[in-house]
Amino acid sequence: MTSQVRIAIIGGGIVGLTTAYYLKQSGFDNITLFDDGTGQATKAAAGIISPWLSKRRNKRWYTLAKLGAQLYSEIVATAHLSSGAYRQNGTIVTRHDSEKLAALYELALQRLADTPTMQAVEQLKPSEIETYIPGVKTPAAGILVTGGAQIDGTIFLQELTAFLGLKIIHEKVNLTATGQIDGYPVFDKIVLATGAWLAEAIAPLGLTTSVRPQKGQLISYQTPALSINTPVLMPEGEYDYLPIVNGVIVGASHEDDQGFDLTVDNTIINNLRASAGKINPQLANVAPTSVRVGTRAYTPDFAPFFGQLPDFKHIYAASGLGSSGLTTGPAIAKLLAALIIDSKIELSAYTKPITEYIN
Ligand SMILES: Cc1cc2nc3c(=O)[nH]c(=O)nc-3n(C[C@H](O)[C@H](O)[C@H](O)COP(=O)(O)OP(=O)(O)OC[C@H]3O[C@@H](n4cnc5c(N)ncnc54)[C@H](O)[C@@H]3O)c2cc1C
Repeated sequence: MTSQVRIAIIGGGIVGLTTAYYLKQSGFDNITLFDDGTGQATKAAAGIISPWLSKRRNKRWYTLAKLGAQLYSEIVATAHLSSGAYRQNGTIVTRHDSEKLAALYELALQRLADTPTMQAVEQLKPSEIETYIPGVKTPAAGILVTGGAQIDGTIFLQELTAFLGLKIIHEKVNLTATGQIDGYPVFDKIVLATGAWLAEAIAPLGLTTSVRPQKGQLISYQTPALSINTPVLMPEGEYDYLPIVNGVIVGASHEDDQGFDLTVDNTIINNLRASAGKINPQLANVAPTSVRVGTRAYTPDFAPFFGQLPDFKHIYAASGLGSSGLTTGPAIAKLLAALIIDSKIELSAYTKPITEYIN
């Protein structure tokens, strides 16, 4: 009986929460979720869901990202999430070089043929981009993917938690050497959705991982209200520019070698401000209204991974989602839930074996 299976999920970011969602959809309702929230990537993230114009050659990554982007509409409809949590407002990617733009448009059309989530693609002149996104000045033309989406990680998690009726235990928990949660009754299955903190989580099991933290910072500005349908701009050579209620977000930085540091770094903030001023000259001398800092998880091959721990068959882990984890997260969660139900399912189209990342 699924309801008798006691499941613990450690980590309440996009992976942990959407895993809870898929498990509940399959009838598992004895779920305890632990999250201490510090540095969580999901809440800090910019929120762009638009993987289709990426030239990354990693097929497994693209399969996950394409599936993740597609799953959002289903989750949002089922859980009745608001447009503040998720909306398909479109994404515009620019290129300065007309040949590169033409090649990107070709790629977009190819991918559109078997990707209904993209909805439509359109080439835009600089003046058309400026009309779509008030305040923006761009010398470069671009491509609009109308199905490109934006999520607000904080609102998404809040609304999904409420829909699931989950009580989150806001506490940092530790595994014991036998793979249970210190201080809690025995669980039948444990999911480690601990993001960048996987090394610490599995240390009591005598295991190590190649996952490393990467710091990311972004800034927000107040601007005159933008329509809820204003697209996200991904300008070549600059940071991304995302409309939010009454403002915009600009970011995010990718800072290696900073460990789990969450302090605001003024040099980085000044770079972000300079980029914001180039994209929208009205922001050139305006101070940002807020700064967000979070920690991403990276693997040596920049690929996310997930699976069952070989020597602890009741423990499952997912990490290494990097800078596109909001996009791949729901796909990883769906497959992880399927693996919990049937340990024999084939995952090689989506991830390398977990032993490539955990020793
Ligand atoms: C600045 C920034 C911008 C980004 N922009 C985008 C974007 O535009 N598009 C995109 O697709 N992706 C983006 N990302 C990447 C994306 O946010 C992450 O890859 C994704 O959110 C990772 O999700 P996760 O669930 O694996 O980890 P997290 O969201 O980090 O969640 C892990 C959680 O586990 C908790 N935890 C860890 N150990 C324990 C423990 N022992 N006990 C209790 N709790 C624990 C942590 O506190 C944390 O809350 C961005 C990331 C950052 C930092």
